Amino acid sequence: MRDLEISNQELSDLAEEAVDLAKSYWASLEERQAYPSTSGKNTTELFLRPWAENARGRDVLQDFKSIAEHARPATGRFFGYVLGSGEPIGALGELLAAVLNQNVTSWRSAPAATSIERTVVGWLAEAVGCAGFTGSLCGGGSMANLMALAMAREAKLPANETGARPCVIYASEQVHMSIPKAVALLGIGRKNLRLIPVDDKFRMRPDALRAAIAADGEAGNTPIAIVATVGTIVSGAIDPLPEIADIARREALWMHVDGAYGGLAALAVPEKFQGLSLADSLSLDAHKWLYQPLDCGCLLNRHPDIARTTFSHSDDYVRILSEDPTEAFAFFEESIELSRRFRALKLWMSLQYHGRSAYREAIARDLHHAQMLARTIATRPELEQLAPVSLSAVCFRHRSKDNEAILRRVIARGRVYLSNASINGQFALRACFVNHRTTPDDVQEIVSEVIAATDELNH
Ligand SMILES: *Cc1c(COP(=O)(O)O)cnc(C)c1O
Repeated sequence: MRDLEISNQELSDLAEEAVDLAKSYWASLEERQAYPSTSGKNTTELFLRPWAENARGRDVLQDFKSIAEHARPATGRFFGYVLGSGEPIGALGELLAAVLNQNVTSWRSAPAATSIERTVVGWLAEAVGCAGFTGSLCGGGSMANLMALAMAREAKLPANETGARPCVIYASEQVHMSIPKAVALLGIGRKNLRLIPVDDKFRMRPDALRAAIAADGEAGNTPIAIVATVGTIVSGAIDPLPEIADIARREALWMHVDGAYGGLAALAVPEKFQGLSLADSLSLDAHKWLYQPLDCGCLLNRHPDIARTTFSHSDDYVRILSEDPTEAFAFFEESIELSRRFRALKLWMSLQYHGRSAYREAIARDLHHAQMLARTIATRPELEQLAPVSLSAVCFRHRSKDNEAILRRVIARGRVYLSNASINGQFALRACFVNHRTTPDDVQEIVSEVIAATDELNH
């Protein structure tokens, strides 16, 4: 018989081995390909296996090496999607959070963890110019957006008791797919999400928004919310918040801001985010632009009362046990989940370990890298930038070659990883910088790799 505990000696040995694996992994990132050479067949052969009856013991740690070989590496040369780079203190925070194994449902269930989460949520709010907002951490921007739209509806056209009634929500054509998904899940129906046209910088057009709301008014529809985006997923565009807030106020609509990609850049460039604090709710993703290990989303809002009407389905049994508002506090009465992990510990540790200035500077470097890339593209007559660089996403293309083929070659060459996007119907190569490991040399490799891939195609 083997019980599930281990001795302190075993723990020390295993921990030492695990830390060695982490050290050699992080040290190997320089040399690693930006995307692993692997296939579905490969990973299935390696990792599809029955659960053995007998203990394998510490040997399982050695699997880490082959897992890392077939994983997307967190190198400074990975520029696809919006993928944060995962800094090490956050990883240690995850380990220690798992050691404490708190269930952060409420203060009663997790006293320290609840206070720490409320503190770090306050830090994030204050860092983006939304001091006084409250909220909670969650799995990511998609969950945050879903909770925000549930709150918007409960504020404007309550559905919890009687079920959903027809209503309309507005967002720009560049909105992230998690918004139509949330609209569908809430039973609002995707056809009731109005996609508002954008200007030449891919920002929502307030005149078109006003016209759409007026048209819905005339048609007898019930608008409830506007979703603005700060940092659209394709080009990083920032919707005009003050104008949208003004429209929301006049029309008595909920204003949600999806800042899952861009919101945290307000730490470094607050001037780009004027009007953010006019939002009713705001989604952020610390696993993107605060470089935290997955997962670490956050929904901020300035209506805790509405958060409670939306999410509280209990009989206040917590409050019966305590009159003290801190001790009566329950995340499950203000958000979707009940059992919740201690996501705040990694933020508590890494944000203080490095200090606020280090994060501001890392974000500023990402913004600078995007500008560097745009300048390099401008020096190459065969390349064309396809969208203004508002934050750290750069979309460009080769003017005369098959860009899809170029992208496949670039990825196969393994030096840098780019993703793709569609800009006004054109296939774009896209590089996004939310990576504390990226160096100026890595940035220069983007264009040289695109040129090298194009040359290969010519042969
Ligand atoms: C990433 C992203 C989301 C979704 O966030 P997840 O953490 O992936 O769920 C939503 N909106 C925008 C703008 C994003 O960049």
